[in-house]
Amino acid sequence: MKNIHRMLEDIRQETVMTAFLTGRKTLSPEVMDAMRDVPRDQFVDPGMASMAFDNGPLPIGYGQTISQPFIVALMTDLLAIKSTDAILEIGTGSGYQTAILSQLAAQVYTLEVIEDLSLEALERFEKLGYQNIHAKVGNGYDGWPEQAPYDGIIVTAAAPYVPDALIDQLQEGGRLVIPVGQPFGHQELIVLEKHALAHNKISKILDVAFVPLVDHP
Ligand code: SAH
Repeated sequence: MKNIHRMLEDIRQETVMTAFLTGRKTLSPEVMDAMRDVPRDQFVDPGMASMAFDNGPLPIGYGQTISQPFIVALMTDLLAIKSTDAILEIGTGSGYQTAILSQLAAQVYTLEVIEDLSLEALERFEKLGYQNIHAKVGNGYDGWPEQAPYDGIIVTAAAPYVPDALIDQLQEGGRLVIPVGQPFGHQELIVLEKHALAHNKISKILDVAFVPLVDHP
C-alpha cells in the first residue's frame, strides 16, 4: 500500500475506534480529500520523510511537534468549514494543519510565537503554492483582531483555559476547536460554539496530548 493510502486507512481506523467518544464513525469526504492532497513529507525535516505518513506526531525542532494526522483530520472535521469561511489557526508550527485548512476555507490566518518556525512554514506555503494563507508571528492568546471575526478558530497547542480574545474574535454561530488542560497533564479537546448573550455551547470530544500554549513569552 502506498504511504499516503496507509495514512488515510490509519485515520479511518482510529476514527472508528474513537467513535464512542467523538460521536463520528467517519470524517467528511472533503476533510479526507485534503488529508490525501497535502504532502505531509514536505512539512518535516528531510531526514524524517520516511516517517511522514505514519499516524503519529513528529518533532519539528524548538521542542515542538507536527500533530498526529488523525488529530489534524478530527480537529478539521470538528470545525465544519465552508468554502467561504475565514479561519484563524493558533500555532502554525510546521504549517501542515494550515495547509489542510487552506484546502477547505476561503482564507486562513495563522499565528506562531516562534519566529523561525513561522518563517520556515511561510517558505513551504510559497514553495507548494498555497495562495490563501496569511502567516505572522504573534501571541495566540491575543488572537489576530485586525482580521476578525472568524468563522472558525483552531488552536493546536494546549491552553490552561479558553482565551477570551479568541471567543471575542469568533463569529456568532462559529466554532472554536481547542485542547484545554495542563501542560503535559490531563487535556481535553473541546468544541465551543459561540451563541448570543454568552450562551456558548461547549462539547468535550476526547483526551489529547498537545504541547503547551505558552503565554506572553
Ligand atoms: N499546527 C502545527 C502544530 C504545531 S505544535 C503543525 O501542524 O505542525 C504547536 C505550536 O504552537 C508550536 O509551534 C508552538 O510554538 C506554538 N505556540 C505555542 N504557544 C503559542 C502562542 N501563545 N501563540 C502562538 N503560537 C504558539
